[in-house]
Amino acid sequence: METTWADQLRTAGLRVTRPRLSVLDVLAGHPHADADTVVTGARAQHPTLSPQTVYGVLDALVSGGLARRIEPAGAPALFELRVGDNHHHLVCRSCGAVADVDCAVGAAPCLIPSDPAGFVVDEAEVVFWGLCRACHEIRGGAIA
Ligand SMILES: [Zn+2]
Ligand SMILES: [Zn+2]
Repeated sequence: METTWADQLRTAGLRVTRPRLSVLDVLAGHPHADADTVVTGARAQHPTLSPQTVYGVLDALVSGGLARRIEPAGAPALFELRVGDNHHHLVCRSCGAVADVDCAVGAAPCLIPSDPAGFVVDEAEVVFWGLCRACHEIRGGAIA
């Protein structure tokens, strides 16, 4: 596994470092983790890592195209390794659970604005808000 991460880091033009490998490892096990979750996971492997180092690694991975940052309104930024496919997210309003959903229609941008106002659109970022199955059931199946 680490060989693969190392190769991917090199391909992205990033130096292979222990903190980067460990952040990649944490993200692989926790898709859509927020920064605090990544810090906790990375420090479980390397207790000497500072939160600042982990935040820096996350920024480097996002700029290098190895990770994607998603920012649902009102929630902390979330990080994931599934990049490059313009997939969308379902977010639970109650517990914050996040699930991946493929593009609404075909390739990016899967949605075309009714009036692009002269913009050349290359990506549509869609968040579907609602209740996850567990939260829906807790509420007796009734939508609040
Ligand atoms: Zn929920
Ligand atoms: Zn995702």
